[in-house]
Amino acid sequence: MKVLKFGGTSVGTIESLRNVKKIVEANEDSVIVVVSALGGLTDRLIESARKAESGDASFRSDIEEMKRRHTEIIEALVAEDSRKPLSEEVEALFDQLERTYTGIFMLEELSCRSLDKVVSFGERLSSRIVSKIIANAVLFDSLTFIKTLRRFDRHMLDNDRSIQLIQSAFGERSFKTAVVPGFISTDNNGIITNLGRGGSDYTAAILAAALNASSLEIWTDVDGFMTADPRLIKNAKVIPALSFTEAMELCNFGAKVIYPPTIYPVFNKNIPIFIKNTFNPAAPGTKIHDVRKPDNKTTEAKGVTSLAETSLLTIQSSENIRSRILDILSRNGVSVLLATRVDDNCRSSYSIASSEVEIAKNALETEFHAEIETGEMASICVEKDLSTIAIVADDMKSDKEIPFRISKTIESSDLDIRAWTATNPETSISLVVRSSDRCRTLELIHDEFFS
Ligand code: ASP
Ligand code: MG
Repeated sequence: MKVLKFGGTSVGTIESLRNVKKIVEANEDSVIVVVSALGGLTDRLIESARKAESGDASFRSDIEEMKRRHTEIIEALVAEDSRKPLSEEVEALFDQLERTYTGIFMLEELSCRSLDKVVSFGERLSSRIVSKIIANAVLFDSLTFIKTLRRFDRHMLDNDRSIQLIQSAFGERSFKTAVVPGFISTDNNGIITNLGRGGSDYTAAILAAALNASSLEIWTDVDGFMTADPRLIKNAKVIPALSFTEAMELCNFGAKVIYPPTIYPVFNKNIPIFIKNTFNPAAPGTKIHDVRKPDNKTTEAKGVTSLAETSLLTIQSSENIRSRILDILSRNGVSVLLATRVDDNCRSSYSIASSEVEIAKNALETEFHAEIETGEMASICVEKDLSTIAIVADDMKSDKEIPFRISKTIESSDLDIRAWTATNPETSISLVVRSSDRCRTLELIHDEFFS
């Protein structure tokens, strides 16, 4: 059994849904099809909720427009005998959505719980429709088996309970093709929650792991992971194969092909992921799997990515303080992209997303309040308008060729590198440059490794 996930663009139009139908029906074995909401719909649902909150009644015409989009798809693709009951279900969901918006409009208040309910309609609608487009498909409702827990102010997967519920739901009913709404879930009290924006990929991975699928196919609108962002680097190429860790590292550094948590459940079970293009199904795509490099083979760079809008925090302090900084940042939910010692060894630098600078600075200043007073730690210096670039390749520790080629490339340029290190010398080397140098750095490194 395989799990196939189709994203918003894949289920977004009549044409693309014809491709989905063809791709799914070509499978001889049983498959589970996880779907996103129609492309762009989640954003529209959120926008209209904000309108309702601000007392703008035009959310009503937005609903009509959303309804039209779904109805057009039903009329074009659903067989006549299924159309009426499906249209009634869709109509009932839109009535519920309208009541939810009206509540928000009357109260002029949009709680997280209401917003979670609003966005759930996207996948509830798309999954019902897709289940009637694909021959002999059965609809399974993820609200009953994907469970979340509350951690701080976020919903996190309740892994054990979800696995149990998934196994019993799919064990009870036989199917050739199951259709499942991605993204949505419920908490212990049955309140609708979700797995975060982009979370349909994650739903698919959770199902694949719980049911021991032979593979997970993520069907999207690009040919696979690329050696660089094709919007920035014209001759970027598709990467044919990646290890799980390389894929994770590319995702952490901004490759937007899949939702990062997707990799963990299937990685643990060693289930390969295939990234495929719904609009170009013949393309081989990217395979993510457990690869062991033969001893005699040199390490190959797989891709270069960049995160714009990063900042560098530089702190002068004693060793005792330095050893606690990463822990404090992580406890405050700040992700450190790169940590490095500055030449004199009394200072250390941390590259983080600019949106997290204030949180990071406040957390450190609060924690080290006394040390700042005594001078054991100097005030924190922040440099903004930077980009963090990462070169990803597995197993660089045993092979110094890649770090050497990066140094050579940088040294023969006039780039001003603000910080650089191997955050994780196993799988990536990162550099911090001024934002104005981002594209040039990417080009130089991409030319060195992928031209
Ligand atoms: N529809 C949700 C979103 O747009 C989930 C997903 O598409 O993966 O974020
Ligand atoms: Mg997505």
